[in-house]
Amino acid sequence: MAGRMTLGIVKPDAVAKSHLGNIIAHLESAGWKVRAGRLVRLAKAEAEAFYEVHRGRPFYSELVEFMSSGPCFPMALEKDDAVAAFRAAIGATDPAEAAAGTVRRLYAESKGRNAVHGSDSDENAAREIGFFFPERERAGLWG
Ligand code: ADP
Ligand code: MG
Repeated sequence: MAGRMTLGIVKPDAVAKSHLGNIIAHLESAGWKVRAGRLVRLAKAEAEAFYEVHRGRPFYSELVEFMSSGPCFPMALEKDDAVAAFRAAIGATDPAEAAAGTVRRLYAESKGRNAVHGSDSDENAAREIGFFFPERERAGLWG
């Protein structure tokens, strides 16, 4: 059964442009519950570790530089079928290909600076929530 939790990140481009509140409001209006969240500036090594799965891809160093370039806002988000529902809510990686009304279509600049991250599987959602909110993930404190 698909899980109810996913990890979203409002990325540094959207935080810098003061879209954080609008993006959270957009998600809450669509039925998402924010169960944890904090503003954090990732060290380069932390961004490398978070995106370890992409190491070796041509965009990896650009991605790591971007994600550590300023504060971002990771959130543990809850909804039915959370991983698939959140990826539908944010839209395609490239905002030019993202459907109307999706977060990336509304707020992203480019394929790299694309406003939000969303976990791509329940397994990765658990890993990524644990990356930013380890104590809550361990305790299962989502009520
Ligand atoms: P998604 O975030 O939609 O799951 P990926 O997991 O494929 O996309 O890529 C992770 C992130 O790396 C993207 O959100 C984007 O910020 C960046 N990225 C992906 N592909 C490219 C690319 N071709 N050029 C620049 N940045 C990219
Ligand atoms: Mg991905």
